[in-house]
Amino acid sequence: MVVDFAMLLLIAIPSALAGAWAASAIVKRRLEKVEARSTAAAHETAARVNEMEADRARMAAILSGMVEGVLVVDGDGRLRLVNDAARQMLNLEDHLLGRHYVEAVRQPGVVQQLGAALKGEHRPPIEVPLDRGSSATSGPRIFRAQATPASVEGGGAVLVLHDISDLRRVDRVRRDFVANVSHELRTPLTAVRGYVEALMEEPANAQQRKKFLEVIDRHTGRMERLVRDLLRLARLDAQQEIAELHTVDVASLFRSASADLSERIEKQRIHVDVRVEPAAAVIDADSTKMHDALKNLIENAVNYSAEGGRIELAARVEDGKVLLSVGDEGPGVPEADLGRVFERFYRVDKSRTRDPGGTGLGLSIVRHLVELHGGRVHAENRREGGAVFTIALPHRTRSSPNRGH
Ligand code: ADP
Repeated sequence: MVVDFAMLLLIAIPSALAGAWAASAIVKRRLEKVEARSTAAAHETAARVNEMEADRARMAAILSGMVEGVLVVDGDGRLRLVNDAARQMLNLEDHLLGRHYVEAVRQPGVVQQLGAALKGEHRPPIEVPLDRGSSATSGPRIFRAQATPASVEGGGAVLVLHDISDLRRVDRVRRDFVANVSHELRTPLTAVRGYVEALMEEPANAQQRKKFLEVIDRHTGRMERLVRDLLRLARLDAQQEIAELHTVDVASLFRSASADLSERIEKQRIHVDVRVEPAAAVIDADSTKMHDALKNLIENAVNYSAEGGRIELAARVEDGKVLLSVGDEGPGVPEADLGRVFERFYRVDKSRTRDPGGTGLGLSIVRHLVELHGGRVHAENRREGGAVFTIALPHRTRSSPNRGH
């Protein structure tokens, strides 16, 4: 009996052990599979998280690089995202995320837009003046704000802000320009019409007729000059004129530009001095365009010179630039107007009733022509009295590849 039992044990134990071993091997395999699966899941999750982080970083980079302001609120009206542009435009403090938009945003129009969008309304954009960034020269800054309901679970709204100050400025410049042109044309046109009517209605003697026709001639001439200058400015604006640079002799350039005005120079007994330093004797320029620019400056100098006055045309090299200057002994330009005389239609003497002769466009054409050469032009007053206009051009060396004939 004891032996039987011992035998049974001898048989049962190894088989039980074998069974247990087999069972544990199955469990182990299963565990390994589960482990493998969970490792794969963990890798996948990590990859997803990385991807999401990368997406988030990409999104943050895009949003912070955007010129448009973007502000996102959740369904409870709490700020979830504000990019740098929105922060600047709305003049918002830092660390606002999580705050209610009504506490953070101070512009009533923007608050209303966000409130409407949170209720699911699509409103047209509004225009809001900017708190910051306005200056006397650039004019007021203004932005367009539009909030739209966010199409996500739980609601919310997205506000987009565009800075439209430059568009408004361009629009204002265009409107001022049209108003100026109309004004400039009206004066001579009214005069021409008046004298034509007088000629038709009143019997005039030959002397009167001649006087009337002379006035008509003067005013039509002025309109012609205005239209010519406007067309030239339009061509320059549209970049239809390019500078073809060749080697140009500066003294001949000065001579030919003043020769075009010789009649007036002689009539006003004006002395023209030409001083050209050897280093500035030749320049690379488009001779026709530089001739036009210099002629314009010399014409102004003649206009503002008294009888018997002196005009100085000089060329020198300074700080690696060739400086071509036209100086006169006239009244000069008031300091406050020095920077503005190159603007279209800008005149120191604003009254249009006095016939100014010029179109008010000459210096803006000069600036365009000089800039075509990669140069700049500026106005100063001379210590001894009178104005001096200086064109600064890049000084090219003799081996310059731009040099032609
Ligand atoms: P305009 O046709 O009136 O001469 P410009 O554009 O040539 O127009 O000049 C603009 C303004 O700059 C002039 O109206 C004048 O007030 C001022 N200006 C230009 N040149 C001179 C100068 N040599 N001396 C004094 N003022 C000048």
